[in-house]
Amino acid sequence: MKLMFLGAPGAGKGTQAEVVSERYHIPAVSTGALLREAMANGTELGMKAKSYIDGGALVPDDVVIGIIKERLAADDMEGGFILDGFPRTVAQAKALDDMGIKMDGVISIEVEDDAIIRRLGGRRLCGKCGASYHIDYKPTAKEGVCDKCDGELVIRADDKPEVIKSRLVVYHDQTEPLKDFYAEKGVLKTVVGQEKIEDTTALTIAAIESIRG
Ligand code: ADP
Ligand code: ZN
Repeated sequence: MKLMFLGAPGAGKGTQAEVVSERYHIPAVSTGALLREAMANGTELGMKAKSYIDGGALVPDDVVIGIIKERLAADDMEGGFILDGFPRTVAQAKALDDMGIKMDGVISIEVEDDAIIRRLGGRRLCGKCGASYHIDYKPTAKEGVCDKCDGELVIRADDKPEVIKSRLVVYHDQTEPLKDFYAEKGVLKTVVGQEKIEDTTALTIAAIESIRG
């Protein structure tokens, strides 16, 4: 099964991708996480990506397409995968087509802009393993410390209020057209993002079951 999550920054793509990955035993691939890993490791790629990401802009298509090509060539991708945060532009979606990859389902998680702004302000990330939390909606057992690896939680540079606004503009401009792109292919499913993560998960699972049906 090949699944994709679409949605605004902070819509909950990464959180749902993690749950779905565990439930169906298929790996989730997040370009955001791969880029942050490259930044943390100080690689050439990471340094190139940093200025775009911290400013709320998209990393150039050729860079992310290169990353995703490499990742999707790995052995663990053979039984299916979940894409989270890729594609984000029509050019990226066309590159995926050109790679001969056909998605079984594209799930668009819909959340209003004002809710996004509230959510991203409270988002925290493990500086060590990258796990994602929220101070209100998904708190850690011990404040400021990752449940999974005991790493210290950090706020992403691009979760600053002024950067969040730019990311939303970019989303509506560049990424939202992908809904039509995949609707035309007949694979788009819409999930209305709920206040509680587990409620969104229930709707997401129902959408996936209808795809597998
Ligand atoms: P969010 O979904 O909350 O924006 P991500 O972790 O998916 O978080 O992405 C963080 C940042 O990484 C984006 O704002 C963008 O700068 C960059 N990025 C991630 N995926 C892509 C992509 N497919 N194309 C271009 N830039 C990307
Ligand atoms: Zn961690």
